Amino acid sequence: MATDPASDRVRVRRHAERGSYDRQTVDEILDDGFVCHLGFAVDGQPYVIPTLYARVGDVVYLHGSPGSRMLQALTSGSQLCMTVTHVDGIVLAKSVFHHSVNYRSAVVLGKGRRVEGDEKLAALHAVVEHVAPGRWDTARRPNAKELSSTEVVALALDECSAKVRTGGPKDAAADEDIDVPTGVVPVRLVRG
Ligand SMILES: Cc1cc2nc3c(=O)[nH]c(=O)nc-3n(C[C@H](O)[C@H](O)[C@H](O)COP(=O)(O)OP(=O)(O)OC[C@H]3O[C@@H](n4cnc5c(N)ncnc54)[C@H](O)[C@@H]3O)c2cc1C
Repeated sequence: MATDPASDRVRVRRHAERGSYDRQTVDEILDDGFVCHLGFAVDGQPYVIPTLYARVGDVVYLHGSPGSRMLQALTSGSQLCMTVTHVDGIVLAKSVFHHSVNYRSAVVLGKGRRVEGDEKLAALHAVVEHVAPGRWDTARRPNAKELSSTEVVALALDECSAKVRTGGPKDAAADEDIDVPTGVVPVRLVRG
């Protein structure tokens, strides 16, 4: 289990005790979601764009139109930042200052790699099955035209961090006697 960050830029500094760099923790957070936010800069302007993903082994696959600015940034060799966030609870404290959320989040830094050939089809299979399990074998698969109009990019999990908050409110001792309900309101994302 890796206990040190792969690089200084993924070292969790604020609430370092909530940080983790072991791949099992990062993988579980990634596998629990299918929407990420991708950060990249174009001409000095940062953009953070939501998009789908799937993890396969040591990479995350992303896809989209070759005409999309996001996909162009992904294949341009520029630095990327991908985040995945799960909110597990709203933490209600005695003071508004100590309100918080319980969460699991992952950050991945790196450069994209354009994916082609057999790996491209495998990546699309992974994304479809991750988001809508069972659909690859039931819905029509992509034809040559659709494949050529879809860009697929791999982002390696070489530099990543996880951050996790659990538990109840951390109230100040001076607020102990304030008569207001406290606790954690659980939050879940469910398929209907
Ligand atoms: C749902 C949610 C709500 C949050 N709300 C707030 C809020 O309202 N205000 C606030 O200040 N913070 C909030 N946080 C925490 C926030 O994500 C940052 O961790 C925190 O603000 C410290 O930022 P920083 O740039 O100083 O991090 P630093 O600790 O300096 O970041 C250094 C490195 O640590 C890693 N890292 C930092 N944060 C995370 C993370 N969340 N997950 C995985 N890796 C991480 C990254 O690799 C980053 O490059 C929230 C987090 C979540 C998941």
